[in-house]
Amino acid sequence: RQAAYAKLRDVEPFTRDGQRIQVMMNAGLRDDIPMLSLTGADGIGLFRTEFQFLVSAALPARDRQTRLYRDVLDAAGTKPVIFRTVDIGGDKQLPYLSNEYGREDENPAMGWRALRLALEREGLLKVQARSLLEAAGGKALNVMFPMVSEPWEFEAAKAVFEKQIVYLKTLKRKLPEAINYGVMLEVPSLAEMLDQLIPQLSFISIGTNDLTQFLFAADRANPKLAERYDWLSPAILRFLARVVQATAGHRVELGVCGEMGGRRLEALALIGLGMRRLSITPAAVGPIKELVRQIDTAQIGAAMSRWLANPPPDMRAALSDWAVQQGI
Ligand code: PEP
Ligand code: MG
Repeated sequence: RQAAYAKLRDVEPFTRDGQRIQVMMNAGLRDDIPMLSLTGADGIGLFRTEFQFLVSAALPARDRQTRLYRDVLDAAGTKPVIFRTVDIGGDKQLPYLSNEYGREDENPAMGWRALRLALEREGLLKVQARSLLEAAGGKALNVMFPMVSEPWEFEAAKAVFEKQIVYLKTLKRKLPEAINYGVMLEVPSLAEMLDQLIPQLSFISIGTNDLTQFLFAADRANPKLAERYDWLSPAILRFLARVVQATAGHRVELGVCGEMGGRRLEALALIGLGMRRLSITPAAVGPIKELVRQIDTAQIGAAMSRWLANPPPDMRAALSDWAVQQGI
């Protein structure tokens, strides 16, 4: 099988009915970069910048951040990279970043983390913005903000970048040729406000890892709740279908970067819902490319519509039986 996946490395993933599915990979460290050419992924759909912070003994200085981002862009060549600004705090505590309100979060996943922290620690976001802007000089820069819960948070974070652009212009630094801003959709409240936000966005990436835990109020790391945390539950799939609907007819690009997209039945469901971009763990790129080539999007789309309107008792079984029938 490994050999079969290797053969697919340079093959663009088209479905049987000719739909191009972007199969991108998730990454976070310099060591992950070679996986891009090894897997033949379409790019890095989620670069988790906080990994550099988590493995450092002190806040990574601007030149270290810039060097990492530049190395990633150099290795990616013409393939796109989406950099997510730091998602720290909550359960990803940094020993060198004090918890300034002096108490532990009782619910760290829902606590003072990600953009919530970065917008208050503006120096941190400013340094990261400048590092990203300088690293992408002369190229396209794709920036994504995590844990956006309301549109103003996106606007405030984008303003930090825009201010740095003005500053870098005064220094006559080489700026990116284009800057595309996007959000992670992982807090359910944002889905209710998409009409307000979409005109300002180049892309939306759905973080199904967090989204699922917030939708079900079920901790993503608690094995006792594993059965409640089900990516194939009709509630999640209906939620995702509404997001697809909300973006239809707009220029915004939509994808999924949670682990869900790296699993066969889940990827089948996502493509059936109309998703055309998945960003997944590198090991899953080969298997998902192989799957894509066996799918007819019209057929899985029709089946998904039926199941969403009238949910079968066991969605996983329904999808699995359907896949067997189709010879997938
Ligand atoms: C997610 O929440 O789905 C996601 C991709 O981000 P992370 O797993 O880093 O929280
Ligand atoms: Mg997340």
